[in-house]
Amino acid sequence: MNEHYIHQHHLPYAHCLDLREISTIDLVVIHCTELPDLATARSYGERVLYPATGTGNSGHYYIDRDGLIEQWVPPDRIAHHVRGFNEHSIGIELVNLGRYPNWLDTDTQEMTEPYPQEQLDSLLGLLHFLSAAHPGLQWITGHDLLDTKMVPASDQPAEWVYRKRDPGPLFPWDEVLDTLRLMPYL
Ligand SMILES: [Zn+2]
Repeated sequence: MNEHYIHQHHLPYAHCLDLREISTIDLVVIHCTELPDLATARSYGERVLYPATGTGNSGHYYIDRDGLIEQWVPPDRIAHHVRGFNEHSIGIELVNLGRYPNWLDTDTQEMTEPYPQEQLDSLLGLLHFLSAAHPGLQWITGHDLLDTKMVPASDQPAEWVYRKRDPGPLFPWDEVLDTLRLMPYL
């Protein structure tokens, strides 16, 4: 794995995101898109949600089910991918259905699509590359561990579900942590 395996596909507003010192990056956050495919994730990522800056929500890197890696935001820009931890983190999004399309229904919370080995191999390659490229990188965690807020379920408002649950229970944390120098953040 080297930078040539990473396809540059920057979001139209990537240059509008705030700059940061590369040395401030100490955390990687693993997400899944909770959408059917990479193209749908792209259309969500391109949406402008913050008119003052002309920017929206996305990770820095996206990994498709077949292992394709795209960089949508360069690491020296702050992407909006997790509440409260954006300034010093890199966000990696794995294409996976998650709870799609009824994210907050009580019966979709299991997240049943497995992560293919090709996708996980690319993730490990990317994580090794980032560890070498960013010596300040120390920690790794999942979006579900950083954002534990609960909200009323969309199908049964008396029930509560997690607002964020990605990458979810099928993500192989043991395999990832065994092969990396990065430590679990929480
Ligand atoms: Zn997420």
